[in-house]
Amino acid sequence: MNTPWFNHTLLLLFFVGFASVASAQKNGPKEESAEEQAFRVALLPDTQIYSLRYPEIYQLQTEWIAQEAQNKNIKFVIHLGDIINDRTEREWKLADAAMKTLEKKGIPYSVVPGNHDTIDKKNPKVRDTQKYNEYFSPERFLNKKWYLGNFEEGNENNVCEFTANGHSFLVVNLEYLPRDKAIAWADRVIKEHPNHNVIVATHTYLGLSGRDRVVPKKDQIQGNNGQQLWDKLIKRNANVFMVVNGHFYGSRFQQSKNLAGGKVIELLTDYQNLANGGNGWLRLLEFSPADKKIYVKTYSPYLQRVFESPEHTFEFDFDFGRLEKMRSRPSKTRPKTKANHKLK
Ligand SMILES: [Zn+2]
Repeated sequence: MNTPWFNHTLLLLFFVGFASVASAQKNGPKEESAEEQAFRVALLPDTQIYSLRYPEIYQLQTEWIAQEAQNKNIKFVIHLGDIINDRTEREWKLADAAMKTLEKKGIPYSVVPGNHDTIDKKNPKVRDTQKYNEYFSPERFLNKKWYLGNFEEGNENNVCEFTANGHSFLVVNLEYLPRDKAIAWADRVIKEHPNHNVIVATHTYLGLSGRDRVVPKKDQIQGNNGQQLWDKLIKRNANVFMVVNGHFYGSRFQQSKNLAGGKVIELLTDYQNLANGGNGWLRLLEFSPADKKIYVKTYSPYLQRVFESPEHTFEFDFDFGRLEKMRSRPSKTRPKTKANHKLK
């Protein structure tokens, strides 16, 4: 087909000017190279009310992802925890069915337990993840090529990977209020993958007014809040570029600098307080190497529209060569880290 090439050239002539045209003529029509092709990561925020009352919306979300995965180049799906609300068998079965929709299409995804998946109100002193592990056990994922492993017996802490455009990504999923030993495990895993761009997912981290600084009194378990997780893990590992969480009603984002001076995107997504348990809103992180951006979009397959407001649709600059640059940077130009920051 010659016509599109012809139209394309004309358009370029008109809009871009002679210099670009000369290069387009030399290289033929401009197509997105494999290296430049945009790809997406989908975030599934708290599905607890869907599992309880609106399972058809949860099902619709995963069906939409499965249907659009190829078209939209969705490389990975991260569930942000609170899969269920009331800990009933019925809810777990409905959640299981929704997530199986992704599995049937071979779409890589990860899960983390939220507070509802972890704490039984009748005994708030212990982590009771028996049902979580019954339905989303390590065994469920062991034969998946994207699943790299877990910590201890269960799947509360697990690590996954995917590649896109020649870049490797690691998704480190951490339990609700991660214990020190879970953080130490994550630290080892992240350090063992220095060439991976790392996303950390955990249920509570960023709240509406910054990182979470308390452990809820009603949950009497030992663990680290968002600020402690930043101090003990995130800021110390230069290849972590993003932290995603749910739990706190709303949407918020901030960018912080780690000890090496690199940017870390911190992103809260949770729509469960809206109508119908969240109206089906889910997050799409569109990585665009060509634009050097990450576009964050919020879309509902239930309402069939994009959430068009600055709170829900925004963007970040993203340097896809950041790891290579980090490695080549002479150590004396690196910002000094505080020597007295010992891991507690
Ligand atoms: Zn929660």
